[in-house]
Amino acid sequence: MVIKKEKIDKILEGYNKKDITIATLCSHSSLQIFYGAKKEGFKTVGIAKKEVPRFYDAFPLSKPDSFIILDDYKNITEQSDELLARNTVLIPHGSVVEYIGSDIYENMNIPVFGNRNVIGWESNRDMERKWLRHGNIPMPEKVANPEDIKFPVIVKYYGAKGGKGFFIAKNYDEFMKFKPSAPFTIQEYVVGTRYYVHFFWSPITDDGYRISRGSLQMLGMDRRDEANIDEMYKLGSQEYLRTLDVNPTFVVTGNVPVVLRESLLQKMFDYGERCIDASVELFGGLIGPFCLETIVTDKLEIKVFEISTRIVAGTNLFISGSPYSDMIEKDLSMGRRIAMEIKKGVELNKLSEIIT
Ligand code: AMP
Repeated sequence: MVIKKEKIDKILEGYNKKDITIATLCSHSSLQIFYGAKKEGFKTVGIAKKEVPRFYDAFPLSKPDSFIILDDYKNITEQSDELLARNTVLIPHGSVVEYIGSDIYENMNIPVFGNRNVIGWESNRDMERKWLRHGNIPMPEKVANPEDIKFPVIVKYYGAKGGKGFFIAKNYDEFMKFKPSAPFTIQEYVVGTRYYVHFFWSPITDDGYRISRGSLQMLGMDRRDEANIDEMYKLGSQEYLRTLDVNPTFVVTGNVPVVLRESLLQKMFDYGERCIDASVELFGGLIGPFCLETIVTDKLEIKVFEISTRIVAGTNLFISGSPYSDMIEKDLSMGRRIAMEIKKGVELNKLSEIIT
């Protein structure tokens, strides 16, 4: 159950807006989030498990001003009073919901940047599909029954699991070899090249790339390195490797920067806009960073196979800017963009429109 918006608004009313603290879990894209928050003059707090992570000492410009240490991330609400006393806004990143657990995350009384209602739409792949379909965004075909696998498919689990356990099958027999044990979806395996596009939607900005409501920015693009699919060709064909019981897997191990053929940029923006318009209609808008995970085919069609509804780890490439964000403002990372939005929310007295 998602906490009532009025409750969060009430907490925000009591906040000292001149003394906001930006907090996040010490993982994923926290270095960038803290770096951006500090640049924009916010206090910062790192929420860590068991002990203060040492790696922040190696990156002093990103080290949070203080830490809150939990036994388990699921106990975060034990620290609610402390966090609220510090006028905290929690920034969700790709690991936050995964570590805290969606039930606790949705219902906790700690103000969160962005729209909490998005979780139900992202973590269930059928809901995600409904959303993208609502926006008329091209997606890979879905195969409802494993018996109907007639072309190469990828079998994927629900939630942000970093590709763990995903597998390719070309027919029912191959599917049965792996037999997924958790909720899954079966998608046409799209052959092409992958682009993970980092967007930011501000409902409280009225300049730049205006859409039906607010303004849309494209801050960067990456491609994920995935083990072992990306390099397995070096060892032989997939068919041959299968005989040795070496199967392709999709575990994210890193990210590389990419740019898109310029003539495709407008289409990508159109899809970003449709995704926001649909989110506004379905659940009040996703707010802030999101990533369209796409495959561009040799016919130059763009298929969106997944949407991430918060800051993605691929943005870590662009802490001091990207080939795209440089044309908006120098040194504009996604982490800093989030902090700038909160600052703007304070200035315009519109925090309630970007925090839930
Ligand atoms: P996801 O969890 O949906 O981001 O998928 C993890 C990885 O699996 C992606 O980064 C892609 O490399 C691959 N993948 C997912 N869906 C497809 C698809 N429909 N066709 C081809 N590759 C896919």
